[in-house]
Amino acid sequence: MPTAYERMSDAELSAAIAALESQADELRAKGLKLDMARGKPSPQQTALSKPMLDLLNSSSDLTDQGVAVDNYGAPDGLPSARALAAEILGVDPKNVVVIGSSSLNLMHDVICHAYTHGIGGNKPWSQQGKIRFLCPSPGYDRHFKVTAHYGIENVPIPMNEDGPDMAMVKRLVEGDPSVKGIWCVPKYANPTGAVYSDAVVRKFASLEPAAPDFRIFWDNAYVVHTFRGEGEELLNIFDALKETGKDDLVYEFGSTAKVTFPSSGMAFMTASPADMSDIRAAFSVMRVSPEKISQLAHVKFLRNLDGVKAHMAKHAEIVRPRFDLVQSKLHEGLDGLDCATWTNPNGGYFVSFDGPQGSAKATVALAAQLGVKLTPAGATWPYGKDPNDSNIRIAPTYPTLDDLGSALDVFVVAVKLVSARLAMEERK
Ligand code: PLP
Repeated sequence: MPTAYERMSDAELSAAIAALESQADELRAKGLKLDMARGKPSPQQTALSKPMLDLLNSSSDLTDQGVAVDNYGAPDGLPSARALAAEILGVDPKNVVVIGSSSLNLMHDVICHAYTHGIGGNKPWSQQGKIRFLCPSPGYDRHFKVTAHYGIENVPIPMNEDGPDMAMVKRLVEGDPSVKGIWCVPKYANPTGAVYSDAVVRKFASLEPAAPDFRIFWDNAYVVHTFRGEGEELLNIFDALKETGKDDLVYEFGSTAKVTFPSSGMAFMTASPADMSDIRAAFSVMRVSPEKISQLAHVKFLRNLDGVKAHMAKHAEIVRPRFDLVQSKLHEGLDGLDCATWTNPNGGYFVSFDGPQGSAKATVALAAQLGVKLTPAGATWPYGKDPNDSNIRIAPTYPTLDDLGSALDVFVVAVKLVSARLAMEERK
């Protein structure tokens, strides 16, 4: 459908551009310095977890179910931390390791292990010639960077409202042994906020990969991050695997980065018993045992899944108004112009915005000139190349509500002006 600017007469369009340029000049004159670039919790949110810091002191009992917290040992993590992580992911604690504070770090280490040593008794990926990884796009830029870092070819896969295009996933995974993995954020995907439907999860669990060392990288980063209502239920992929009788197909990851403190939370992963034994062996070379003092603080603070949910409800009170403001500002500013679509998730950290083809880079650049930093255009695609140059990731959690409102006003003017200029370009 043509945009409202494309539908205007030449005179109307010139007048619209002039009016928008003067709005932009007024905004530029304000000298704003606002940031809607990265998905970080606001200081108000991280403050929710500060009481955790009071739960440990020099007289605390530094044992957990008989395990010494203040010494080497428990390479898979503290028993109660593993139980908590298992409850969050809905899996058996026996198959869970809690290690370090970054799930991205765990994903990297697993990719590195597959690359240098191979998985499931297969040759290292590095010795198998050109290998490929599927990247539902728009997706999480840091996932794509991990695989690109090892020279693995990232292949974009269209992302639908209920998950990736599974016909394409099936064709590539089942037809091409050079396809070794797929990045998935199954709940409140970064950046679309999509929740994979049961049908999509079941299709993943039914894949018959051409490569024996193909794995699904199931990054459940936002499993408990609902901010509106009850949130959606994600079918547990390990339950789906039980239905299909498949094994050794999924590595699942999670962390409390956006539950407690980013970079100071606890990270965890799970997989089939055979895959976990392989991963444990690899991880045992990397460290004697994980940092456990933070794990103890986390289990004392969060206790169990109910505790996590109660804590996330407090986050939701802070986060929801920001996401609501994104919706109201975008509707107010852009409804009827037919120049944009955007998602309206009930959880996670992002809104995915699409402007006209060829607009994203120009919009991000113009917003920057007007004092608002956005995630670089293209970042949501492998190699930073959005084929339509239309997608922009909006990260509304960090700024204050006032700053967010001002940033969105700038964003709306930038979107309109770029759309109008594009309509003018088309006429030249
Ligand atoms: N996975 C996804 C999908 C994310 O969006 C993020 C952070 O934005 C991470 C992982 C990073 O998690 P961690 O801090 O546990 O490495």
